[in-house]
Amino acid sequence: MILRIAIVLLLLVSGYALWIVALNLPGEDGSPSVPRREASAPALVPVTKRAEVADPLPPSGVSVIPVLGVHFEQLVDTFDDARSEGRVHDAIDIMAPYGTSVIAAAAGTVEKIFESKRGGTTVYIRRSGGQWVDYYAHLDSYVPGLAEGQNISQGQMIGRVGSTGDASPESPHLHYAIHSMAPGEGWWQGRAVNPYPLLREGD
Ligand SMILES: [Zn+2]
Repeated sequence: MILRIAIVLLLLVSGYALWIVALNLPGEDGSPSVPRREASAPALVPVTKRAEVADPLPPSGVSVIPVLGVHFEQLVDTFDDARSEGRVHDAIDIMAPYGTSVIAAAAGTVEKIFESKRGGTTVYIRRSGGQWVDYYAHLDSYVPGLAEGQNISQGQMIGRVGSTGDASPESPHLHYAIHSMAPGEGWWQGRAVNPYPLLREGD
């Protein structure tokens, strides 16, 4: 009986010792880990392709909900929704009344202001570092003076909610997407990352 207790105590003590050693291993001291970005960088691919699970999150990991006054509980994850011609949505639709302010989910530089058949009045903003592009579509209008090459801070107004492009006039909304960009890819390329789990309410 005493022998059995001794063995149990010995196991507990050695387990604790191993735990202490493991906690003190180099690299486990809370220093930030280096993201492995280059590991999964693909060749040029069309925008419809999904990002691999192993793709790193945007540097900040956080985007502000890009429609002013919308709370997280109001958001619906529509990333996987089917769209016409076999497409997948690859974005989140944020419903809001006409004219509601659209703000930048993340800081960056306006890379492209573009009128497209599907997206209507759109803006592409590339975050610093170049690896992420935020895409805003169906805008009713741009904020006056918005220009390509302009630096935008997080939360800065860029336009107003509308239904331009293939959005229904009865349900104005912001179509918002985050694209992971390989080195050298342009605003029309990249791979979609689901914005829903990355969105937080602004201040
Ligand atoms: Zn949409």
